[in-house]
Amino acid sequence: MDVRVGLGGDVHRLVPGSGLVLGGIEIDFELKAHGHSDADVLLHAVTDALLGAAGLGDIGEWFPDTDSRWSGADSALLLAEVVKAVHERGWQIGNLDCTILAERPKLSPYKAKIRQRLARLLNVAIDAINVKAKTGEAVGPIGRGEAIGAEAAVLLTREG
Ligand code: MG
Repeated sequence: MDVRVGLGGDVHRLVPGSGLVLGGIEIDFELKAHGHSDADVLLHAVTDALLGAAGLGDIGEWFPDTDSRWSGADSALLLAEVVKAVHERGWQIGNLDCTILAERPKLSPYKAKIRQRLARLLNVAIDAINVKAKTGEAVGPIGRGEAIGAEAAVLLTREG
């Protein structure tokens, strides 16, 4: 059996406004992530981890922010396209582990929902997904609440 690991990370600036989306779930907060698409840092990190594991480059090559097609895009659709590409190359998703880095808001009320959504998006069992959240300990751009970030690791397996 072939086994590959992939790593993904992302950071977006936080700006005033509603519509913060994390892992495809809307979060009730007075700030939102600034970006070309819907700026879902977690889905961007997961997408990059999948691309990394499959040796397919990175999210910026697949969905350039200079392309108006991706302006305001639902990151779940971008992830779905990458999941399809990964499956087409014969890979199965083993598991996903991820961490959301945010000083605020408190993410514990959302973690279960995000986990479920990720399991559906990746078409894997819920126990193949783990979602962690941590603050920035009040230091750096994340700790000062100026930015939000995410890290993800994915395992792919393939017969043969
Ligand atoms: Mg991003």
